[in-house]
Amino acid sequence: MGDVKLEHVSKHYGDVTAVDDMNLEIQDGEFICLVGPSGCGKSTTMEMIAGLTIPSEGEVFIGDREVTNLPPKDRGVAMVFQNIALFPHMNVYDNISFGLRLRNYDKEEIQRRVERAADVVQLEGMLERMPDEMSGGQRQRVAIARAIVRNPGVFLMDEPLANLDAKLRVHMRTELQRLHKELDTTIIYVTHDQAEAMTMSDRIAVIDSGRLQQIDPPLVCYNEPANLFVAGFIGSPSMNFLDGEVTDYGFESTYINVEFDPAEIGVEVGTDVTMGIRPEDVYLIEDERQVANPSHQIDAMTDVLEPMGDEIFVYLKLSEEAHADLEDATGVINDQLLMSVSPDTDVEEDEDVTVILDRTRVHLFDTETGKALSHGIESMVQASGAPGTEAESDD
Ligand code: ADP
Ligand code: MG
Repeated sequence: MGDVKLEHVSKHYGDVTAVDDMNLEIQDGEFICLVGPSGCGKSTTMEMIAGLTIPSEGEVFIGDREVTNLPPKDRGVAMVFQNIALFPHMNVYDNISFGLRLRNYDKEEIQRRVERAADVVQLEGMLERMPDEMSGGQRQRVAIARAIVRNPGVFLMDEPLANLDAKLRVHMRTELQRLHKELDTTIIYVTHDQAEAMTMSDRIAVIDSGRLQQIDPPLVCYNEPANLFVAGFIGSPSMNFLDGEVTDYGFESTYINVEFDPAEIGVEVGTDVTMGIRPEDVYLIEDERQVANPSHQIDAMTDVLEPMGDEIFVYLKLSEEAHADLEDATGVINDQLLMSVSPDTDVEEDEDVTVILDRTRVHLFDTETGKALSHGIESMVQASGAPGTEAESDD
């Protein structure tokens, strides 16, 4: 049984709260990624599931058993770490079978399990090799095979690909998904890399400062982030944020207004809100026909261009003033907007452009609490002469 449950689990190290009241329910057979910035408590959470760390408060369940204080060997879990420690003087077969030999499994059973594991991670024909005759990716597969032979109900992997080069990492992502399909067991995978989490998991648990921010399928985290942290962390490049206020007409800020009826969205007039829009949801006016529900037109000037091959990132300046004056208290520059356009777009640096936002992709967050208020704005206030029209009328 590979269900894993954390109930009100916290871990304190002196004054540091590494994990803060974590509640997680992971279904048998799920591939879950714990994702968040370095130091947010991912490894500590994992260690408490593995039994390497005992929680300060709360309870851990695996299957139907409470395992909070059980040693790792009694939990039916196997762990793969970032730093693969293979025995350098043992060949692949002996490395993979080491744990089984230690537990006195009989020889045929060991051979059967090693061969199956080697088959799953595609190491057939390499069982006689020594670790120093293998690439980083192959060594990592040995480490995974060593976990597989133990037939764990739950695989715990803590940044197992972090030390591999970029190309191999992408390849291993596919391998791990295949492995998950083949083994049909629970995988709990720790990474600080949101792209890794997005591509592999059934659900992502986004963690910040020891606290669970959201646990949802990747596209739900992407399209309906629960708060500002998730919105900024998931997706690369990051979502654009602009601070403003809710008025009778909708969202108003220094450079961009988005009209809506506050009552319909359920936000009170006068609330400080942060508007979020992803780079791919900002369009040049020429591309307006691609947008079913465009915002008002916004005048901007192109700054730096970053051609990526399959798209161009265009940094837009919304004002002509020096950036230094426009930083808010947190150092965020409030007059910049990043736009992603197709590679054949005719665009240059330091050019005046007019852009629009896809209103159905506009996110609103309570600036104070960070909580999401709305994802997408469909309706429009009918009143004419709304201040939102100013943005397009100054030339
Ligand atoms: P992550 O894996 O997300 O990078 P960790 O779980 O390793 O984060 O750490 C979370 C926080 O707990 C960090 O501030 C870290 O310094 C602290 N921490 C982790 N382990 C210990 C420990 N054994 N002693 C003291 N502080 C620790
Ligand atoms: Mg860690």
